[in-house]
Amino acid sequence: MFSINKKFRVCIIGSGFGGISTLINLSNLLKNNSLVEIFLISNSDYFLFTPLLHEVATYEVSPENIVYPIEKLKESINNFTFLKRKVNTIDFDNRKVITDIDRINYDYLVLSLGSVTNFYGNKNLEKNSFTLKTLEDAVIIRENIKKIFIKKNELKIVVAGGGATGLELIGNIKFYIDKLKVLFKNNIPVKLILVEKFDKLLQEFKDDEFSNVSLNRLKDLGIEVLLETEVIDFYNNKITFKRNNRIEKEIIDIDMLIWTAGIKPNPLVLNLDLEKNSNGRIIVDDFLNPLNYPEVYVIGDIAYNPNSKENYTTAQMAIQQAENVANNIYSKTRLFKYSKPFKYNHKGNLVTIGKNFGISNIKGYKFKGFYGWLLWKIIHLIKLNDNKNKLNVLFDWLSNQIYL
Ligand SMILES: Cc1cc2nc3c(=O)[nH]c(=O)nc-3n(C[C@H](O)[C@H](O)[C@H](O)COP(=O)(O)OP(=O)(O)OC[C@H]3O[C@@H](n4cnc5c(N)ncnc54)[C@H](O)[C@@H]3O)c2cc1C
Repeated sequence: MFSINKKFRVCIIGSGFGGISTLINLSNLLKNNSLVEIFLISNSDYFLFTPLLHEVATYEVSPENIVYPIEKLKESINNFTFLKRKVNTIDFDNRKVITDIDRINYDYLVLSLGSVTNFYGNKNLEKNSFTLKTLEDAVIIRENIKKIFIKKNELKIVVAGGGATGLELIGNIKFYIDKLKVLFKNNIPVKLILVEKFDKLLQEFKDDEFSNVSLNRLKDLGIEVLLETEVIDFYNNKITFKRNNRIEKEIIDIDMLIWTAGIKPNPLVLNLDLEKNSNGRIIVDDFLNPLNYPEVYVIGDIAYNPNSKENYTTAQMAIQQAENVANNIYSKTRLFKYSKPFKYNHKGNLVTIGKNFGISNIKGYKFKGFYGWLLWKIIHLIKLNDNKNKLNVLFDWLSNQIYL
């Protein structure tokens, strides 16, 4: 192996899907290379497995089973330093990460800062609705549903957003409330409404059959679906809908609005001196470098390549980008440098809608109903980090199956 006789420092920012996957790939490649040091910098000292967040929000899985502490990673990889820091900005010209505590130099930088919920500037929605982005969000939803159930004689919940997150959440809420009814021996009337701005559900799957199947499933569960409807206000428990693009408005009283209708890049990205697209994502080239900075890599939800038709904000995308970036950084630390452009390989789509029902499309093989659900469960169990988490989640799922 040929190495250049200079010590390099790689800083990876973010401990989500992109950051952790970069770290694991890079540290495996650099196993015995003492000339490269890796810093993982994040404001969070654990990795969160977001695909199971809706299950935490509905008491199907315990919160601690979908987190993986960075400290634990050290048992399998030990050639990195973890720094718990909030990054405030980056001085790209002087190659420095500026944090709430210190300034950290880098030779190579990987940015994977993720996204936040987008309320499109609507302050009332931002202030009064619940979101599902963090572990705390999931626990708050779970506890709030229970609290309202106990306190009131009826329950009305609206989920805004007919994408995978909205569907998985509302499907599970239906079964969570069924459980509460049995537990508290109280069969109160419940109304669940899913609101979607466009004329079909699961737009991101680009599959009309799946849009129709999911619509029918929700109807079978007794969930009302309002298509071509926008939530435009929520204040004092009154929600205002705008229907079919007309100014026609409907105002109803509800107990809870959960907003899963959009994301935007981490606000820190706004202040970075890099070129961005109209949604605020950082423009990258085929090697995931932003303009003018070949030593910087941007991946995950904050990256956007105008030359690509595939700019999904998914874990699947962040993980594949991370692998490409790790290989390219590794190659740059060697004598014979060769960088490979990033090519996305879409493996499929998976979504569950409540108990025993899922839709899966794996490389064109489609599964609906129980088998779609089973496939979702198996794949997510395999993808979960850590054997202890896998066992605990499996136990949670089995007890849930037995319970109702
Ligand atoms: C409820 C839910 C369900 C999902 N389900 C799926 C699914 O089933 N399949 C799928 O493919 N995708 C799913 N996703 C999307 C997936 O989670 C994201 O696309 C993925 O996490 C993006 O990875 P990332 O590395 O860009 O960002 P993230 O994973 O969000 O990581 C960002 C990291 O940056 C850190 N950070 C943020 N700001 C700072 C700062 N200022 N300083 C230091 N550190 C900072 C954060 O703590 C975090 O560790 C889901 C998302 C949600 C919310």
